[in-house]
Amino acid sequence: MPTVAETTHLTAAPLTVLNDEEKMFQATVRRFARERIAPHVREMDEASVFRKDLLHEMFELGLMGIEIPEEYGGQGGNFFQAVLAVEALAAVDPSAAVIVDVQNTIANNVIIRWGNEEQKGRYLPKLARDTVASFGLSEAGAGSDAFSLATRATKHGDHYSITGRKLWITNAAEAGLYLLFANANPEAGYRGITCFLVERNFPGFHVGKKEDKLGIRASSTCELILDECRVPAENVLGEVGKGYKIAIETLNEGRIAIGAQMAGLAQGALDHAIAYSKQRQQFGKAIADFQGVQFELAQMATDVEAARLLVYNGARMRDAGLPFVTEAAMAKYFASQIAESTASRAVEIFGGVGFTKDYPVEKLYRDAKIGRIYEGTSNMQKLTIAKQILGDR
Ligand SMILES: Cc1cc2nc3c(=O)[nH]c(=O)nc-3n(C[C@H](O)[C@H](O)[C@H](O)COP(=O)(O)OP(=O)(O)OC[C@H]3O[C@@H](n4cnc5c(N)ncnc54)[C@H](O)[C@@H]3O)c2cc1C
Repeated sequence: MPTVAETTHLTAAPLTVLNDEEKMFQATVRRFARERIAPHVREMDEASVFRKDLLHEMFELGLMGIEIPEEYGGQGGNFFQAVLAVEALAAVDPSAAVIVDVQNTIANNVIIRWGNEEQKGRYLPKLARDTVASFGLSEAGAGSDAFSLATRATKHGDHYSITGRKLWITNAAEAGLYLLFANANPEAGYRGITCFLVERNFPGFHVGKKEDKLGIRASSTCELILDECRVPAENVLGEVGKGYKIAIETLNEGRIAIGAQMAGLAQGALDHAIAYSKQRQQFGKAIADFQGVQFELAQMATDVEAARLLVYNGARMRDAGLPFVTEAAMAKYFASQIAESTASRAVEIFGGVGFTKDYPVEKLYRDAKIGRIYEGTSNMQKLTIAKQILGDR
């Protein structure tokens, strides 16, 4: 047993202390968000469209291929860096953040982890360079109960024929590649679920209706229609029947990044509230001088810090190869809760103008709501946490 003195040099670094590379990366993304995205946030929200030129710049900056190895044209970074990017973008525009989130922590990750060499060589360079990707799991009848999906894949010689409809698919309007889940053996139940790499121009594939949403309006969310869509057998990702495993494990990781999106959003709302409280005068002084306002800001700052710690811890555990499922569920559950309350408090600190579209907090308040819904609702996160803490009974 080592003595206390012998272990003192083993002290771990505080979670929020970044190394030089991480600091530089974070500063670059923050600058891009502030200088390039911020001027267009309102217009993109109103138009419900993310500007093509900004998407192009996100590719140029390497933000769409953070974890893709350099040999495939990516940045060769890690998951924690993807989380830093999502967090920094969300403070300015949670729509930009979710575009980067789905591309990196979901789509690219799936191909890096489960794709064979030929699939990686075919798709990763495109995903790093100019091709947006989507993750198509949900359907009208399969949301929280995702594995009850009705989309079917039938093998005919060297290809599969896929028929069904997907709902709520992020990035679908812009995407060129879709990671699509269909059941290739319904008798086997969820063990028939298979992941396919579907290109936008495959025969029988269509992008359907785009949703008109409360928040993250510049991020596209569309229906996908597969009408006997012809997919080559070589486009099965991983093994036939292992799609459920790919989906579960990917979403476990993705949840940490949604936590980052929500922590970033909350930081953005807090920053706006601090600046406004120093500038707005009532009763002859800045409203920041009133203890009632200070206490609100103090609560918001504490909530944001706690959310960030959960998110960073989950991300660093994932990169260290440690089990992180409970931590990921906690990070998403808590960060989405405080994003909503922090954005709501920010609206109140702005008073009447906070309720208008002329100031940014109204949009952050609307954007916060999605955190408790996608990539597993808050109830589903609590089920995961409860299952872990209760153990076998
Ligand atoms: C903007 C947006 C983007 C999205 N992007 C994607 C995407 O890119 N890819 C994709 O595949 N999907 C995506 N989704 C789908 C999303 O993941 C689902 O909406 C989500 O999982 C919830 O499913 P549902 O909408 O069918 O709700 P339901 O599952 O019908 O849930 C309704 C309510 O019932 C509760 N509930 C359900 N089951 C239980 C239970 N067992 N215990 C307790 N409570 C329960 C839920 O918590 C919720 O409050 C997106 C959705 C939205 C709105």
